[in-house]
Order: sequence, then structure tokens, then C-alpha cells
Amino acid sequence: MQIIYKPVLLTDYRKQLAREYAQMHYGEPFDTIIPQAIVIHWTASNSMQAVYNYFYGEEASTDREYGKLNLTSHYLVDRDGTIYQLTPETNLNRHAIGLNWCSIGIENVGGVNGNQDLTDAQLESNEKIVRHLTSNYPSIKYLLGHYQQDRTKKAGLWKENISEYYADKPDPGPVFMQSLINKVNDLKLVTFPIIEPS
Ligand SMILES: [Zn+2]
Repeated sequence: MQIIYKPVLLTDYRKQLAREYAQMHYGEPFDTIIPQAIVIHWTASNSMQAVYNYFYGEEASTDREYGKLNLTSHYLVDRDGTIYQLTPETNLNRHAIGLNWCSIGIENVGGVNGNQDLTDAQLESNEKIVRHLTSNYPSIKYLLGHYQQDRTKKAGLWKENISEYYADKPDPGPVFMQSLINKVNDLKLVTFPIIEPS
């Protein structure tokens, strides 16, 4: 698998902000994780560079009420399938409320206006990343789309001290998640229902 290492700004200050985030949301200061889950996202943007620029800095431009740490995922996959690694895999990154303490995030460029338009090349790259991560981290047991976040509460994977800190998420949509789960079925990861029963 070809990975282009394209780090965001990784400084002691970013680590300090990560520890502050962990203290606020999880009750203890830490800046690295033991990965247990992989969370798949879309960026709701069509520009890899714009997303990268947004993730680059240490401090979030918004949302400071709940911590200054900026958003970033660990991986960013462009529409042609190019894989960028933005931080070490064990960094505590801010990409999924409730799950940052235990998860690696993969962002996919696309999903503007909620369109389920992620590409076949992105699907192949996500499969490669999931295989790479699960072979390197036997601690990883779960694979989910961000929109399935509520299901992790029953699984005991969700941690969040601030009850009102929550956001509904559509990404990356059931079509992409079903396709990805089908591709990595042999890994026997724990997954969640693709569509919520009504
Ligand atoms: Zn997301």
C-alpha cells in the first residue's frame, strides 16, 4: 500500500491540547491511544487540500467551548484513492465525539450535500488501510461509519463526560459502509447494522 505521509502540524502544543481534550472529555490527560475501532468519514468537501489546510493547525477555529484541539483524522483519502497519512496512528485525534479515545479515523474526500458519491478507488484504499491497521494493531475489533456512532454506546465503546457534546452525522453513508464491510468480511471485525430499524 502506498501511503503519502503528509503530516499536519505535530508539535508539543498539539499534544498539550490533546491532553487537555482528554482531561475534559474522558477525565484524564493523555495524547496517545490504544486503537480499538476504525471510524470511516467523509469530508463533505471536494477538495483534499482544503480539508488538509483545515486540519493543519493545532487549534480549532470553532468549537472552543469543548476544547481547543483542532480536528484531524489519521488518514485522508482523496477521490482518486490516494492515501495520505496525517498523524501517527496512535495519536489522540479529534475526529469523532465519544470515540476519539479509542479510534483511528479515515476521512474520504466527498459527500458534499450528503451525496453518497465516494468512489470505487476510495473504497479500495479504505479496504487497504483497514487491512493494514488490523494487521498492525490486534487491539482493533470494531469497524463503523461515523453515522453509526450511537451503536457504539451499547457496545461500551462510547465515552464522553459532556452530555450535550454531540452531533448527528450522516457520513460516510450506508452504501459505502456496506461495500467496505463486504470487502473486509474475512477480518471478522465487529460491525453494526447498516440501516437503523424504524
Ligand atoms: Zn465524520
